[in-house]
Amino acid sequence: MEANRPRILVLGTGFGSFSFIKHIDVEAFDVFVVSPRNHFLFTPLLPSTTVGTVEFRSIIEPIRVARKGIRFYQAVCTRLDLEKSIAYGEGYFHRTPFEHAYDFLVLGVGAVNNTFGIPGVAEHAMFLKELADARAIRQKIIECLERASKPGRAPADLDWLLRFVVVGGGPTGVEFAAEMHDFLREDLAKWFPDLVPHVRITVLEAKEQILNMFDARLRAYATRVFRRSQIDVRTNSMVREVRQDAIVLQNGEEIRYGLVVWSTGIGPTPLVRSLDVPKGPFKRLLVDDYLKVLTTTNVYAMGDCCRLESQDLPPTAQVAQQEGKYLARAFNQRARGKTPGPFVYKHMGMLAYIGERRALADLKNVKGRGFTTWLFWRSAYLTKLVSWKNKLLVVSDWLLTSLFGRDISRF
Ligand code: NAD
Repeated sequence: MEANRPRILVLGTGFGSFSFIKHIDVEAFDVFVVSPRNHFLFTPLLPSTTVGTVEFRSIIEPIRVARKGIRFYQAVCTRLDLEKSIAYGEGYFHRTPFEHAYDFLVLGVGAVNNTFGIPGVAEHAMFLKELADARAIRQKIIECLERASKPGRAPADLDWLLRFVVVGGGPTGVEFAAEMHDFLREDLAKWFPDLVPHVRITVLEAKEQILNMFDARLRAYATRVFRRSQIDVRTNSMVREVRQDAIVLQNGEEIRYGLVVWSTGIGPTPLVRSLDVPKGPFKRLLVDDYLKVLTTTNVYAMGDCCRLESQDLPPTAQVAQQEGKYLARAFNQRARGKTPGPFVYKHMGMLAYIGERRALADLKNVKGRGFTTWLFWRSAYLTKLVSWKNKLLVVSDWLLTSLFGRDISRF
């Protein structure tokens, strides 16, 4: 191993960073990773963990296990001095200050939930981005059911306590609603039969349809399946406030709720906001075709925190993953005296689970839907899981869930 290897500082442990870490040549570079999360999270299966179809630990991989030869520090980077090439921040646990000098900076800091500044969202709604969010949602669902079981509970209370509202009809909101519906049909019907008639799942979407980025026929199919499953899909329903007891729509209508999950998309992290470099729509850092942040010489970015200047790619896992891999290989090539070509994105299509063992697949030449697509959805995600341990755990969770149902304990 070379003594004075160039120092690469990687910020983040999401899809982009994980893919970068997996492919970077640790013999040629001294790689130091900083992130408040010490594991990689396979977010495509996150909605499944909110009801226990899949268990939490089955979809995470500790970052140290993912790649030997890197160093990791669990901390939050709060400020970057791009002139001096120094990162500043605080340790995750005791907020101990730290600083770290680098030769190259690789930003994979992702994004945060976008509340659009709507009053009450941060205080009363739950998000679905991290494992802790999924766990909090799972706790809240069971809490609502147990509270509703109180003897003598007025029927009017059940109408709000058992109303599960999803704001945002993008893939995150739709997949959560689908999992919630499966939980209701397959498990709650068995263990809370008296309550089930009172449970309502509502999806509120500001635009005219849900799943806007999917093919029109697949969108229509998903809406039909949801309506048949008695998931209340309300389009043209923009939420303008979330109060402690009710959601307020743009038209003034109030909807009381037991749980509200906010999934209206993403916005920039405070670190990205703080950087004085060119930014694109949604304040994402603009990068060139080599993923270098515009106006900088040694700062690169990948995934949700950035946007290519030459094309508009969506903030998805597959984009981040391909960018991370490309960037690591480009570093490796330069270390060997070669000149890398520009980043080229290869779209693999989109998948979404819509409940009752049905899924959508919006691929280049195939628009799949229904049960066989669900089998494809499961096998595709199984292939994409990042370790054999994860794959085995997820298969075993699926098997256990189909044999014994989902766990309804709250602890
Ligand atoms: P999204 O941006 O895809 O969808 C958010 C939805 O919320 C939009 O339809 C928007 O109209 C709606 N909305 C915004 N404000 C609202 C309001 N006040 N009231 C009601 N509705 C409102 O968000 P997402 O689902 O979190 O996804 C984020 C990104 O991740 C997207 O690029 C998505 O494609 C990707 N993703 C993909 C998958 C998949 O392919 N299976 C899964 C999850 C996320």
